[in-house]
Formats: sequence, C-alpha cells, structure tokens
Amino acid sequence: MTVICWFRRVLRLDDHPALVAAAQDGPVIPLVILDPAEAAAHPASAQRQAMALPALSAALQAQGSRLVVRRGDTAAVLAQVIRDSGAVAVHASEGMPFARDAGLEGVTGAAGAVLHLHPLADLVPRGSVRTKTGTGFKVFTPFWRALRQTGIAAPLSAPRLTPPDRWPASDGPDWPEARVAMNRGWDVVAPHIQAGEAAANHRLDAFLDRVTSRYAERRDRPAEGDATSGLADALAVGEISARRIWHRALDAQHHGSGGIEDFLRELAWRDFSRDLFHASPDMDRLCWRKEWNGFSWEPDGPAADAWRQGRTGVGMVDAGMREMFVTGRMHNRVRMIAASFLIKHLMIDWRVGLDWFARCLVDWDAANNAMNWQWVAGCGPDASPFFRVFNPDAQGTKFDPGHRYRNHWLDPDAEGARQFAQAAPRSWRIDPADRPPPMIALDQGRQRALAAYRSFARRD
Ligand code: FAD
Repeated sequence: MTVICWFRRVLRLDDHPALVAAAQDGPVIPLVILDPAEAAAHPASAQRQAMALPALSAALQAQGSRLVVRRGDTAAVLAQVIRDSGAVAVHASEGMPFARDAGLEGVTGAAGAVLHLHPLADLVPRGSVRTKTGTGFKVFTPFWRALRQTGIAAPLSAPRLTPPDRWPASDGPDWPEARVAMNRGWDVVAPHIQAGEAAANHRLDAFLDRVTSRYAERRDRPAEGDATSGLADALAVGEISARRIWHRALDAQHHGSGGIEDFLRELAWRDFSRDLFHASPDMDRLCWRKEWNGFSWEPDGPAADAWRQGRTGVGMVDAGMREMFVTGRMHNRVRMIAASFLIKHLMIDWRVGLDWFARCLVDWDAANNAMNWQWVAGCGPDASPFFRVFNPDAQGTKFDPGHRYRNHWLDPDAEGARQFAQAAPRSWRIDPADRPPPMIALDQGRQRALAAYRSFARRD
C-alpha cells in the first residue's frame, strides 16, 4: 500500500525519521508542498527551501525514486495528493512552529490516509531534558549541562525507497510566490547560498577540519566569515540534522580537533529554544515574562524604516542590516547589536524586528528567532536584562577592530555596499555615498531606555 512522505523543512534523505518510517510502511511518494501563505510570510526562507529542491530531487532519482512537488494551500494539496495516489498513510515530521500541526489529522483522515507525525531529528526529543523536579529548563546553562549528560541518539541512515506503481503529477520546483514576496529579488540572495544535503555535509567537514580550534576566539568577529559553521540555513531547511552534526563533531573531537565543546554548546541553544517554544507556542507574539506585555514600546514607523533600510547612521547596525538584505544572513554578534539598537535605543517593539528578520533571513527559524529577540529585549526566559544596553560603537571596536566588516558594507567603493545599493528597492533611495549622521546619540538613547525601564519597573 502506497504511503506519502511529506518532506516538511526536512529536505534530506539522511537521518530523516519520517522517511525511515515511510520506507518501512510501503512504496513511498516523496512530497514537498510549496504553500503561497508560507512564501508570503517568510520569503527568504521559502527561497532557501526552493533552492534545496533540485539536489533533493537528484538524490531521490539516484535511487529510482522521485520528488513530487505541489504548489498550493497545504491542506488542499495534501488531500489532493492522497486522493490522486490512493495513499493510505502520510508520514511527516512534526511542524515548526509545533502548533501548526493542529487540524492536519482531520485533513488527511477525510482524504483516506492516516497521519503519522515523527519527531524532528534534533539533539533530544522535545521536553525530554528536565530539571530534577520534572519541569522544563528556563535557563540555558543548566539545560546544557543536563543535555551534555544525555546520550544523543545516533543519526538514522537514509533508507532504500520502493517506488509506487504510479506517480501523481508534479509541479516544477519553482515557488513564484516567494519570488514576488522577496523584496530584493531572487538573484540578490542566491549567489550567497550553497544548497543541498551534500553541500551542507561538505561545509560541516570543512569547518571541523579547519576552524573549530579557534571557534571560541573568532566566532564573535563578523569579518572572519569562516569562523563559524555557517550551517544555520542548512539546519533551518533540514539539509542536515543536528544529531548528524553532533556526532561528526564528537568524532572530530576524538581525533584531536579543539574547540568542539564550545561549538556543541552553541548548537544546543537551538534545542533549548525549541523546548521553550514548544512549552510557550505564543513566544513569537507575547513576552515570555508576562509583565513585559505592559511595557510601552514604540510602534512601527519611520524610525523602524531607517533601521530596516540600514540608514540609522550607526555603523555596526547599518552594516548588519545591509548584510542581511543582500545575503539573507547576519552574523550572530551583529544580530544582537542591531536588535538591541532597535529595542533599546529606538525603543521599538521587538516584534517589529522579529517580523523583519522572519522576512529576510534564509536561516529563519521560528523558535530561534523568537527566543533570541526576547533574549535581547529582556522579556524572555534566560534573557539579557533590559538595562544591558549594547553600545554599537563599543561593540564595533571590540569585535570589528579593523573596521573590515563595516567597511565592506558601508564604504561606497566596497563590494558589499555596491551590492546593497543595487539590491535596495528604488523607494529606499539609497545613495551609497550618503552616510547619514546617527539618528540618535548613543548615550542619549541609552539614558532614555533606562529611564523608561526604571519607571516601568517602579509601576510594578
Ligand atoms: P555557529 O556558530 O556555527 O553555530 C552552530 C549552530 O548552532 C547554528 O547554526 C545554530 O543552529 C545554533 N546556534 C548558534 N547560536 C545560536 C543562538 N544564539 N540561538 C539558537 N541557536 C544558535 N538563528 C537561526 O537559526 N534562525 C533565526 O531565525 C535566528 N534569529 C536570530 C535573531 C536574533 C535577534 C539573534 C540575536 C540571533 C538569531 N539566531 C537565529 C541565532 C544565530 O544568530 C544564528 O543561528 C547564527 O548566526 C548561525 O550562524 P552559524 O550557523 O554560523 O552558527
């Protein structure tokens, strides 16, 4: 009896629990759904997924299978493919955000197939790392210690797939809605992406071979492009699993590579954020510390536009916003600086920034994005306190001492600044030579934020 394996942001054959289960169940139809609603909400991430499809399709073909791609509303497509193929079961990974899974069982059931949701191949199953009293961790360091003592399950090998007797029709791998929603065109971001399962594995190998020994020392320096793994986008679309990364990193450690422990610790932040998001599915909309929902943030408006468009006049912030617009990525240190500037110096609602990142990042991940924005805002669980206001200039001096990163994105003759000027929508009127003065004096902004915070804290 034919079954469907719905590849849902798990765009690989290796370590894919849903695919392994499907292969044991019967002949498999591998299915990807390109939903316009998803493309509209997260166009860069949608583009990143679309770019992974040719490699996935080739890998399936190499073992006599195929990738069926269908465009349209998820529920409608799922029901249609079940009817077209006569499939009796749908195997899929649980969705991220997890709450999206509500109602799917009814959809597949009505079309005649049983839905089996399988855990994502993260380091640990959701909610399995617990405090002594059985609750979830709210602080990262104890979570990390407990996770480090847990045996991380071995990754699953890619299964052999039996093809079905007949294949349902397939659309091409193009996602036109994502192209339309991308506010800077597909071709801007594409050259900065290496898509596919093989490319992700290759990147991991190169990173483990060369880089990890100086990871802790270099990971905060945005000018050193190869200092971190660069795997966030591959993880976000599921071209590689966190478990595979973990075990390969441990192998490298056994063979003498240094710095692995620091790298594994960073990787564990991803599981931490997923655990939190699982426990608080509204974490991308509501402050985790409920009292913060009463704070008077500034709304979206012209100041937020200046931030989005990289013309705040504050070097590290503008460089970061430009980097994200052109490449779909932003260095982690710079994300913290740019987010802090929006929330603290401009006092703009963290959700304004979260939404912009969700549109622009190729590595957009609902849980990581929400947890990190709340971390910077000070309203999350293990969060940086609100009174910790990053000084973007001091951060630049410390982490970009030679100005290499800033110059690349801000110097009108530099490659990055040129790419940004070409990519920016005409309505932004970006003149590469025009560097505006800082829109707010850094100390004044800091004092204003602290005063607002003090008065808010007194009110409680
Ligand atoms: P490496 O240093 O090589 O780390 C390996 C992996 O560990 C990463 O790929 C990532 O999966 C995980 N990791 C590392 N740092 C973090 C972290 N702080 N939180 C959670 N996981 C982490 N990351 C996303 O994947 N998607 C997002 O949407 C996202 N939004 C963010 C928003 C803000 C405001 C901030 C401050 C950070 C955000 N991050 C997000 C976390 C982080 O910036 C990226 O994961 C990082 O830039 C990835 O680069 P890398 O793969 O080279 O990391």
